[in-house]
Amino acid sequence: MFYYLWTEGCQMNVGDSRRLAGTLEALGYQSAARPEDADVIVLNTCVVRQSAEDKAYGRLTSLRPLKERNPNLVINLMGCLVGLREPNGLRKRFPYVDVFSPPSDPRPLIEYLVSERGARASEEMLSLLQSVSPSGPARAAPRFPLFPLRSENGLQAAALVPIVLGCSHACTYCIIPYRRGGERSLPVEQILAEVRTLVQSGAREVTLLGQIVDRYGKDTGGPGLPALLRKVHAVDGLERIRFLTSHPNWMSDELLEAAAALPKVCEHIEVPLQAGDDEVLARMKRGYTAEEYRRLIGRIRMYIPNASIATDIIVGFPGETEAQFQQTSDLLAELRLDTAHLARYSPRPDTFATRNYPDDVPSEEKMRRFRALEDLQERIAAEKNAALLGQTLTVLVEGQHKDRWYGRTRTNRPVFFDDPSRNWTAQLAPVEITRTSAWSLQGSVK
Ligand code: SAH
Repeated sequence: MFYYLWTEGCQMNVGDSRRLAGTLEALGYQSAARPEDADVIVLNTCVVRQSAEDKAYGRLTSLRPLKERNPNLVINLMGCLVGLREPNGLRKRFPYVDVFSPPSDPRPLIEYLVSERGARASEEMLSLLQSVSPSGPARAAPRFPLFPLRSENGLQAAALVPIVLGCSHACTYCIIPYRRGGERSLPVEQILAEVRTLVQSGAREVTLLGQIVDRYGKDTGGPGLPALLRKVHAVDGLERIRFLTSHPNWMSDELLEAAAALPKVCEHIEVPLQAGDDEVLARMKRGYTAEEYRRLIGRIRMYIPNASIATDIIVGFPGETEAQFQQTSDLLAELRLDTAHLARYSPRPDTFATRNYPDDVPSEEKMRRFRALEDLQERIAAEKNAALLGQTLTVLVEGQHKDRWYGRTRTNRPVFFDDPSRNWTAQLAPVEITRTSAWSLQGSVK
């Protein structure tokens, strides 16, 4: 039996997909290269922008003929298109979908395969399925256990571990709280057990995930992210720890101190700015000013001098004037961050912005602003990467890409190198950098 998994969206979704794949493999399914060859097809969806949502509809529509040809095919729609509520509208619109799963939850599919399709679950899996309420709100449900994924490209050198599900911040543009629910920190012991399991199955790096990861523990009153980092750090065999995404208001000195002091924690921070103009930031309900963000970057660089910093920016938020956009551009030019994930504003159902602000920046103008920032950031990244020429950097190799080894530096820069002489998967390779671009580095093993 074969499964095919299609994933769109953030690292949380990538992590959810890997987790589901590991569970399916524990049930005896194998990964198929094409949907045509699969008995189970999973679409793990994203709706953060209309373009992502449209891709999911396109994919769903393309599966219809497969289902018509093979009525035994199981189609599972998962993720933020489904959300946490009963998906009645989707059921009507896509009657050929067999199973709907909320974000981060493999149970509906596994239950269906076991009860309707005769899949054979282990004793462990059966008892877990029984102990978990079948369809109650995800908030109350214990987390389905982790079955690490082994098959895809051999080892999973860099693993993703969610530590905070959902989000309660409610930025005015953002649909995530409506689809992933309120913030829920996972228990320390469960996270540590998952990290240990992953390391035992070959992982050398974990990235701890949350929409506002630095808020870990604030909803439960339990230990916070600095304490969690120390505990994860103590796991033998683990080489690297990352955490994302941060929010400027929650990046405490204590967190930065812990990140700087723990050798396994990588010099890489993802902290979205979204806009460089105070009035726009206020209408986004981000909760900080441009000056506060500027000072935060200074603080990060003080604690972690060689930190690479990534940010997210939205251009064309409702009412954003040319002068306001220019503030964002000027701040990006001034701060010289390492990476900027750029997006054009897309109105999302249910959000405060959609209900209250007309989407009044024309799409050509959004595109112009997007391109302007893209060019600016490309120049900055190219300059920063060029400065690494000739240095030898340690790369955690994640696998092969078109016959070349691929991995990342501690600062999250992608590196490619040739070495047919040995298998570098999940190894730390010392790579002398011989070529650089804005997007990646190339080199040879020292
Ligand atoms: N909590 C995460 C959010 C993940 S969504 C974070 O703070 O990064 C990833 C990015 O998508 C956001 O940072 C934002 O830049 C962008 N985004 C979210 N909603 C959007 C919208 N309605 N239109 C355009 N971009 C959006």
